[in-house]
Amino acid sequence: MYSFEPALSEIIMFLILGMCFGSLNSLLIYRLPRTMPIGRTRSRCPSCHHALGVRDLIPLVSWLLHRGSCRYCGVRISWRYPLLECSMGLVFYGVYSMYGMTWMAVCIAVFLSQLMALCIIDYQHRIIPDQLQISLAMTALIYHLLKGTHIAEPLAGMIVGLGIGLALHHGFRILRNKEGLGFGDVKFITVSGMWLGTLPLVPYFFYAGCLGIISALLWRLVNPDPRFPFGPALAMSLALLVVHPPSSLWLEDAILFIVMRQSH
Ligand SMILES: [Zn+2]
Repeated sequence: MYSFEPALSEIIMFLILGMCFGSLNSLLIYRLPRTMPIGRTRSRCPSCHHALGVRDLIPLVSWLLHRGSCRYCGVRISWRYPLLECSMGLVFYGVYSMYGMTWMAVCIAVFLSQLMALCIIDYQHRIIPDQLQISLAMTALIYHLLKGTHIAEPLAGMIVGLGIGLALHHGFRILRNKEGLGFGDVKFITVSGMWLGTLPLVPYFFYAGCLGIISALLWRLVNPDPRFPFGPALAMSLALLVVHPPSSLWLEDAILFIVMRQSH
């Protein structure tokens, strides 16, 4: 990554920015699955429906000041809101410690924030909203612009991702006669191809498969619903490969190894 001298003011800036994105995620997680508009209506208390002002929406601070309850009706406000805000603050701090005060740091931090919203929505509702897919695709374009990648790479990755996603979707249907991979997952694999390009899709599916098996086993332990969300496994695999890209040498070695074994 980048070597730099961390500055306290920059750390604080990233922590606060992260907490604001955590707060935005709470809004997205509530509104997107309910197809509610994002920016046009003001946030309201879910209990007394009083419109919330700036004083009520400062990440963590408002929750602490009002001792975890609504200022108007006194109903308890879940600890999940400040928890999400603090964890996004830490994620942003982690990204800053890797990339420093750069536009790339902002881009990666926003990307991880979008993935966090995606994981929680898919976990709770088993859908991946199109708005999140589109915003992830737009962040991918900014990422490649900052990186100076040739446009052919994300474009090829997108086409290959879509092809594999559709093959898996229809393959499951034909072989097991049920929906194994939903269209939301197919779209997300397409967006992942846009982020990664073609070759890193190999470790992407490997990691996603491993994480998918682990999360399916955990899901069965706690949830009676047989429809298990695959989005979080795909999202974690993508995050891992974007933050720690495999070196091209490593990939070439792995492919060469497979080819050599096949020819023996
Ligand atoms: Zn209230």
